Amino acid sequence: MTALYPDSDLYGFAELLADAERAKIEALRRLLDAELRPVLAESWERAESPVHLLGPLRDLRLVDDPAVLDADGRARELYSGFRVFEFSRVDIGVCMLYHGQVAMFRELVRRGGSPEQAEVWDSAILSFEMTGAFGLTEPDHGSDIARGLETAARREGDHWIIDGRKRWVGNAAHSEYVAVFARDVADGEVKAFLVRTDAPGCSLTTIERKVALRLVTNSDIRLAGVRVPETHRLQRVSSFADVARLFQPLRADVAWIGAGAQAGAYEAALRYALDRRQFGRPIAGFQLVQEKLVRMLGNVTASLAMAVRLAQRRQDGVSREEDSALAKVWIADRLRETVALAREIVGGNGLVADSDVARFFADAEAVYTYEGTREINTLLVGRAVTGMSAFVR
Ligand SMILES: Cc1cc2nc3c(=O)[nH]c(=O)nc-3n(C[C@H](O)[C@H](O)[C@H](O)COP(=O)(O)OP(=O)(O)OC[C@H]3O[C@@H](n4cnc5c(N)ncnc54)[C@H](O)[C@@H]3O)c2cc1C
Repeated sequence: MTALYPDSDLYGFAELLADAERAKIEALRRLLDAELRPVLAESWERAESPVHLLGPLRDLRLVDDPAVLDADGRARELYSGFRVFEFSRVDIGVCMLYHGQVAMFRELVRRGGSPEQAEVWDSAILSFEMTGAFGLTEPDHGSDIARGLETAARREGDHWIIDGRKRWVGNAAHSEYVAVFARDVADGEVKAFLVRTDAPGCSLTTIERKVALRLVTNSDIRLAGVRVPETHRLQRVSSFADVARLFQPLRADVAWIGAGAQAGAYEAALRYALDRRQFGRPIAGFQLVQEKLVRMLGNVTASLAMAVRLAQRRQDGVSREEDSALAKVWIADRLRETVALAREIVGGNGLVADSDVARFFADAEAVYTYEGTREINTLLVGRAVTGMSAFVR
């Protein structure tokens, strides 16, 4: 059988996939190659989210086909990782578009909601009848959101009244709900509410002129006296510790995003180097170009190794905050380096979105910052290894 990633998976990590898992990844590749690649550069330039793909993606049943589920109805961590890898190898934005729904929003509801809430909503989320995003960050609170979260929730009978602002909420513009994290004014604890984006008092404004992840629409959200029924409060979120618990697996996904985007950039740079001729021969034949290619391939391979091992440990039930934080920091650093080298190999053409490296070059900056910045994830690992918290002087 030919390798799934003959150019970028030198050590054959994808051989760890079962046949049915590999078949799903190949089906995804066919869809993205046919429906997304031809319009990718233009969509990116126009900052258009390819929401038309959500129907065909849902129909592929990448996350709920029994062929890729175990007896408990769960997909293997390794398969979920390679699914993210495959998406990100094409475009990080389209990965966020799909996984924002089936991984992020779904997991928040599944693990943050009561068993009854999860049961009722899970199938609706998988079928995209119920669409959602999450709103944690605020205009004045990003890294310090744990302490600084200002959005307020006040209970009135069987409803809550939400007031505040959220920033950067990805996919909200085309979602029915946003999982809004707000502080209960009665006990000071952070709780989570499924707010309808069309609820009276809820207004969304698209963040314009964004230079990264242009395929994702990010919104500023204003909440002014928005009413949410108690039935739409996620019942298993009653403190910020619960919020941190919910977000930890999402950070592990970022490791796969970083590895996949590096693979995409590397493959594009390799193709270009083999094709582009200067001084009478392909630039791939020059030592200084090969040095860059090898550095990139080393980064992709090491990032994949880290992501795969993280997935295996998570499959075995080992899920520590510092493990995913270390992967996020380290792979995001490698990502930044790899996309810069890819951009360099493609020369001036690497500044044009059609080259297939410029998008990765720009989008890497978003990966570097979201799901905890480099500094915040470093501080998480630092606290774990030293036993000392250095978040605040
Ligand atoms: C493309 C994109 C999509 C996003 N999607 C979402 C989303 O869907 N939902 C959502 O809720 N949020 C989302 N975010 C928000 C994201 O989580 C925040 O941007 C991130 O947490 C950082 O917050 P900030 O941008 O306010 O930076 P700040 O927290 O203001 O940080 C600015 C700088 O200060 C550094 N810094 C802060 N504190 C410390 C410290 N103690 N020690 C050392 N350095 C420090 C940071 O590392 C950073 O370099 C998204 C962001 C981006 C860019």
